[in-house]
Amino acid sequence: MNKQLTLMILICMLLSACNKNTKTLPVETGVAKTLADYRKVNISDLQYQLQFDIPEEKTTEISGKNKMIFELKSVNQDLQIDFREDASLIKSVKTNGNNSAYRFELEHVIIPKEELKVGTNEIELEFIAGNTSLNRNDEFLYTLFVPDRARTAFPCFDQPNLKGKFQLNMSVPSHWKAMGNGKLVQTKENGNRTTYEFAKTKPLPTYLFSFVAGKFETITREHNGRKHTMYHRETDPEKLANNTDEIFRMLFESLDWLEEYTDVPYPFAKYDIVVIPSFQYGGMEHTGATLYNASRMFLDKNATQNRLLARANLIAHETAHMWFGDLVTMKWFDQVWLKEIFANFLADKITNPSFKDMNHDLKFQMAHFPSSYSVDRTTGPNPINQVLPNLKDAGTMYGAIIYHKSPIVMNMLENIIGKESLKKGLQTYMKNYAYDNASWEDLIAILDASTPFDLKHWSKVWFNKAGRPHLTTNISSRNGKITELKMVQKDAKGNPGDWTQDLHLIFGYKNESKRIKVNMNVPEVFVENAKGMDVPEYIIPNAKGDAYGFFKLDKQSKQYLLENLDGIKDDLVRGIALINLYENLREGFLSGNEFVTAIEKQIAKEENSLILERMLSYLKSVYWIDQTPDERKKIGKQLEDTLWIRLSNENDMSKKSSLYSALSSIAETPERLSQLFKVWKEEIAIGGFSLSETKATALACNLAIKMPEKADELIKTQTERIQNPDRKKKMHFVAPALSADAEVRNEFFESLKKEENRQIERWTLEALRYLNHPLRETEALTYLPDALELLKEIQITGDIFFPYNWLSVSYSGHQSKKAGDITRKFLEERPDYPENLKLKILQASDVVLKK
Ligand SMILES: [Zn+2]
Repeated sequence: MNKQLTLMILICMLLSACNKNTKTLPVETGVAKTLADYRKVNISDLQYQLQFDIPEEKTTEISGKNKMIFELKSVNQDLQIDFREDASLIKSVKTNGNNSAYRFELEHVIIPKEELKVGTNEIELEFIAGNTSLNRNDEFLYTLFVPDRARTAFPCFDQPNLKGKFQLNMSVPSHWKAMGNGKLVQTKENGNRTTYEFAKTKPLPTYLFSFVAGKFETITREHNGRKHTMYHRETDPEKLANNTDEIFRMLFESLDWLEEYTDVPYPFAKYDIVVIPSFQYGGMEHTGATLYNASRMFLDKNATQNRLLARANLIAHETAHMWFGDLVTMKWFDQVWLKEIFANFLADKITNPSFKDMNHDLKFQMAHFPSSYSVDRTTGPNPINQVLPNLKDAGTMYGAIIYHKSPIVMNMLENIIGKESLKKGLQTYMKNYAYDNASWEDLIAILDASTPFDLKHWSKVWFNKAGRPHLTTNISSRNGKITELKMVQKDAKGNPGDWTQDLHLIFGYKNESKRIKVNMNVPEVFVENAKGMDVPEYIIPNAKGDAYGFFKLDKQSKQYLLENLDGIKDDLVRGIALINLYENLREGFLSGNEFVTAIEKQIAKEENSLILERMLSYLKSVYWIDQTPDERKKIGKQLEDTLWIRLSNENDMSKKSSLYSALSSIAETPERLSQLFKVWKEEIAIGGFSLSETKATALACNLAIKMPEKADELIKTQTERIQNPDRKKKMHFVAPALSADAEVRNEFFESLKKEENRQIERWTLEALRYLNHPLRETEALTYLPDALELLKEIQITGDIFFPYNWLSVSYSGHQSKKAGDITRKFLEERPDYPENLKLKILQASDVVLKK
């Protein structure tokens, strides 16, 4: 290369580097990654001083003020502040004390660079808060800003890696209470209004900033010198008495466990909980004031073991977030799984001691594998690690893969490096990145130092690859002895699989079983140890409960397990065998009829409550999804009888509860329905089983669909019976979806096209489930095209789980090829449909697409 050319290249490089520095950032809707990266480099020491004036009437505007104080490194760009609302809601803007000549463009308040200076800047904004994420109800409101909704309520830098210290003042009607992330400093009463002043928080990302206001009752308990308050709206004193102690006990146990495990004392000023009726999620980890769903917290007296466990896990999960997510936060929402992986993985560890009689490996299996498989078996699975160029699409990152596949993979990681190394590694990670942000790669770099294993490669396959390995066991034998055993892994398309994991094969014989460990690190592995062994009755390749994939059953194993599931005495192995059978059904290697017949025989014999509950839940879905109405007629009566007999003889309340739920779901014969109707009327009881208000309501709704001639009476009487005003309102909302009159139902569906009618997502989903009940399948087909059409809008207006849940209930009653055709047509006509949403559709419609 000659000198002149080298010089020219150098000049070009310099010029392009200069261009890069001065290039004006485009203004785009949402929060583009490029904008977020630019702000992260240039903005630091951020503080928000926020003031909101909350009126009592939910339709009256909320006015707000926000003073943003921060250090700026350079002023070569106009400053974009995020506000996803109408420009008219911005009332005034001042930059460093002077009126700003700001402009409003594509969801941003843009401050001219001339008004800014290197060093400390102050921007004061007066605005009307957008209502999108304020969840305004008649007597209360609560914010829910995850993942990028803070910008709908107030102008801010809405990105997880620009943490700010929040100082909040709120003025509310004096008979209301107000809660925030920070400690309450003081209240000032002025006429019929009270101002709450909260202390400045530690650095928080916008998605964790939160406030709640309204009519709430409180219960306070003390632990290790700190006061914790539970805010709630429950009116049933028995429900409160039955649950309060256990809620606080789990909360305190979680806090203690996490302080020990992370070696970091609780990192924020206070920790309260707020229990919200019909809350969208199970919980949301707002720092210092975590929100919970009332129906997940205040359980019925006869709650199943699984419900109790789910509550304990939920509390442990949200508490774990105080460290994993709140103290150390992911840099961007493409790694939102990074906080969920730890919250779920550690929640299991935290709750184990509270459920001493439970088989924890089985619990782990039941809690995570079926849900994760429900996505990975479809034609639209997503990897754990996803791509996210703009935060406005962050809501589509969520789903079973990040909540359930990630803890499974984390469990593998712990097995690879060891429990102590992982704990030590996480302690280092916590200390290095406290009140800051970190990525998965930052953690892997810490952990990689503690093991000779190639964690980086392993992490790539399990985190970046979608779907699951399909594993088959190929046996050759002569005279009853194995001559060759080959394990083969492929991906869903039949290409060789490159996942690496240990398999623990179990060989089952009449009176014993043998185990062999196989290191599955290539597409094909010959199991040398198996040579010469007797051919077993069955082989289960994932018998230890840590292996992940689709395990195709060989013919003999399949037949044996269908007939003798109860012959496997080890609960974990039997539970895994059940899951494998179900997955073989879903992958088309077993018929619905074979499955139901086999399960019906097991119902009478299954003693493990986790397996029984899983079995019954599979039974319900196979009954409705895989059986035609004629097939249902043939098996229905006998199935009802089997469930009824087991239910009547069962003493354990938790198992009784699962059996009751299965029976009321599948009941279709006139005799059984009239019996259940009498149960609802409280004329007869199911052997010592009292119907709680929740159960009676669910039964009334269920019967209203199956006994249309009694629908009016059921709905009217049940609505009158409900005492709690929040639950009464919900019943009023869902009633039209239960109506016997198709006109009323169609009109109700039409009403859901308006955003304001979908505001309480839980209610909407429940009503939509009724509209799409399998018994109304033909009619529900007419809803499907509109439900799909609405999806894009729902992703923008709804919260993070709403798009998938909306689809999931819309497909819940369908089993026809027609539903599959509607789906295919919808996608074919829209070749440019957003990829993440397309995957959600493929996930939710998997059953009908395979018809
Ligand atoms: Zn979480």
